Amino acid sequence: MSTTATLLDLRTPAAFGVEIQQQVSLAPYTTMKVGGPAEYFAPVTTVAALIRLVRWARSVELPYYLLGGGSNVLIADAGIRGLVIYNRCRQVRVDAAPCCVFPVDDRPFLFAESGVALAGLARQSVAEGLTGLEWAVSVPGTVGGAVVNNAGAHGGEVKDNLYDAMVLDEQDEIREIPADELEHAYRSSSLKRRLAVKAGFGPVVLSVNFRLAYGDAAAIRAQADAYLAHRRRTQPSEPSLGSTFKNPAGDFAGRLIEAAGLKGTQVGGVQVSTQHANFIVNPGGVGAASAGDVAALMAQIQQTVQARHGVSLEPEIQMVGEW
Ligand SMILES: Cc1cc2nc3c(=O)[nH]c(=O)nc-3n(C[C@H](O)[C@H](O)[C@H](O)COP(=O)(O)OP(=O)(O)OC[C@H]3O[C@@H](n4cnc5c(N)ncnc54)[C@H](O)[C@@H]3O)c2cc1C
Repeated sequence: MSTTATLLDLRTPAAFGVEIQQQVSLAPYTTMKVGGPAEYFAPVTTVAALIRLVRWARSVELPYYLLGGGSNVLIADAGIRGLVIYNRCRQVRVDAAPCCVFPVDDRPFLFAESGVALAGLARQSVAEGLTGLEWAVSVPGTVGGAVVNNAGAHGGEVKDNLYDAMVLDEQDEIREIPADELEHAYRSSSLKRRLAVKAGFGPVVLSVNFRLAYGDAAAIRAQADAYLAHRRRTQPSEPSLGSTFKNPAGDFAGRLIEAAGLKGTQVGGVQVSTQHANFIVNPGGVGAASAGDVAALMAQIQQTVQARHGVSLEPEIQMVGEW
């Protein structure tokens, strides 16, 4: 798989504090626990290092791929060619609204770097008595992945409270983009489209500001607890990528899959969850299944649902790497 390894001088990133490893298995870094190696792999913990690393990769024409929580990506068994940047930039801050800019609106800002876990951020906001992110207390993944995908649950979604995002754009400019310019829609954004167009050299979310409000702390906590309890009751706890397929208009992918008799169907080490039919689970974890098993089971589900219901199911998860 390695095409670029011998040509790269890895001393430059080392000089600004980023250690690049080679042929690192990515399965442990995804929630499905499958997938092959990254040709190059670099964890980053500061936004300054993230910016320098992306600029360096662009300068040497090395395709890069941002990995957050790995909770929405099915990585091919053959792995990812180029540089996988494992985002661990995790600073969080609550900022008062500056009264010279917002004289009659004192709702605070919640600043988060893009590698912050969304669920942890939501729990922190709940603990601070802030309302707006309760829906996110059980959604896996990072803030960066959530902004790209417009993650949502329980009727809430990222776009409801996002104020702006700091992005390193394709022209190497750092831009503060107002939320409405990100064109968030159902599990998508302008960033997601730009990532697809500029594969390997797309925009990078560095940090975001949510705008939240203070509310009744006990009521906020009760709502968040109810969402958590609902998720524990209704979704499997084994490794998965969450919902495999998007809900078709006016219906639910899980209902269609269950009605097609597919609950419990197995391919290799993975199976259609017996608890929630839109989840494919990998009960054995790392080493017990392959990305190929997941892809084969997805194809079987799509064919069966098409034959039984005449509905074409579209994947919600993203297949990345060398398929
Ligand atoms: C058990 C389970 C339950 C789930 N429930 C929900 C749910 O209720 N609602 C929901 O919306 N989703 C849900 N998901 C899916 C997933 O949690 C979301 O899509 C999440 O927002 C993905 O974030 P991530 O950090 O894991 O992204 P990754 O999977 O790491 O990456 C996803 C995409 O975003 C890109 N990306 C990541 N970070 C950046 C960045 N900083 N800059 C640019 N691009 C970036 C990646 O390159 C990739 O293309 C669930 C998943 C699981 C496993």
